[in-house]
Amino acid sequence: MKRIFITRRLPPIAKELLSKHFRVDSSEDNAPLPLPKLREIVAAYDGILTTVSEKITSELLADSPLQVISNYAVGLDNIDLRTANNKGIAVYNTPDVVTESTADMAFALLLSFVRKTRAAQDFVRSNGWDAWNPELFLGEELFGKTMGIIGFGKIGQAVARRAIGFGMQVVYYNRSTKRTDDEFPASRIRQVDFASLLAQSDYISVHVPLTPETKNLIGKTEFIQMKKQPILLNLARGGIVNTDDLVEALRTKLIRGACLDVTDPEPLSGSHPLCQLDNCLIVPHIGTATRECRYAMAKIAAENIINHFQGGAHGRENRRENSPGM
Ligand code: NAP
Repeated sequence: MKRIFITRRLPPIAKELLSKHFRVDSSEDNAPLPLPKLREIVAAYDGILTTVSEKITSELLADSPLQVISNYAVGLDNIDLRTANNKGIAVYNTPDVVTESTADMAFALLLSFVRKTRAAQDFVRSNGWDAWNPELFLGEELFGKTMGIIGFGKIGQAVARRAIGFGMQVVYYNRSTKRTDDEFPASRIRQVDFASLLAQSDYISVHVPLTPETKNLIGKTEFIQMKKQPILLNLARGGIVNTDDLVEALRTKLIRGACLDVTDPEPLSGSHPLCQLDNCLIVPHIGTATRECRYAMAKIAAENIINHFQGGAHGRENRRENSPGM
């Protein structure tokens, strides 16, 4: 019987499904696996269900008997895909089910930032609310503004749907041409080149994967091109935005603010310069943190392993991502 290891405490559905087909062991800790333990596992198991915390490096895979890695995430930048590909190890992710939760989070962060909800709550709790004040916590409205979306895949499009619902114009940049006429009103959305997006957007939301091409996609040069001092949202991967340049852009007000679900490095210490800036809102990589989404991710991550060993005969078919990545 094949042996599968689950690296983290996840919704129980993952282990329930896998246990019907395989001998399954799992870490019951809600903590990243220490490297020596991870080393033991990749040397002994046929399949592994990983999270973004596990860095599956070339060195770890070198002598591994693994046949399948199922990542509990869409991004696969924690796995050395080139080595996995060369060794014939199949790598799966959990697309689709993360889309709506992550797009919701983009707007949760953006609205919270522009309407200053955190500061307003602190004000009430510290007994500051002594009269209605017409000048208190003035923010900005989204209606009529331009949302720039970098990476017009599943999450980028879900952000666009929400932006249009808020009465915004949308411009997007994507490496391939994406048609939008079936779903989006033509008067409200346009595909543009990268420089135009940087120049035209009041808000810029990043939704490309982290690959060698997108690492440091946004740095000093790009911040200077952001003519409208936008608010930058990053819910993709921290390494797409150069952190030192972001700190500088926030300090010098090249951009009005940043809303970050992901950072580089990650996790981020509370003493990091980004955490000292009033115009930077940071949450700890919780874009997919809804009960619905995490259940669906656990189910699909398990089904990917089952389908792999059953030749794809049952369940949903998921993308096998073996293109060179990071
Ligand atoms: P997706 O559907 O694959 O969309 C990615 C889009 O990026 C595609 O349209 C792709 O274009 C485009 N793209 C890729 N490389 C590009 C480049 N070099 N320049 C311009 N465009 C490029 O993926 P998704 O489901 O929307 O997820 C996007 C990313 O979000 C994931 O890779 C993951 O890292 C991140 N994510 C984060 C969270 C979180 O918790 N914060 C949750 C889910 C996902 P093509 O159509 O030409 O391939």
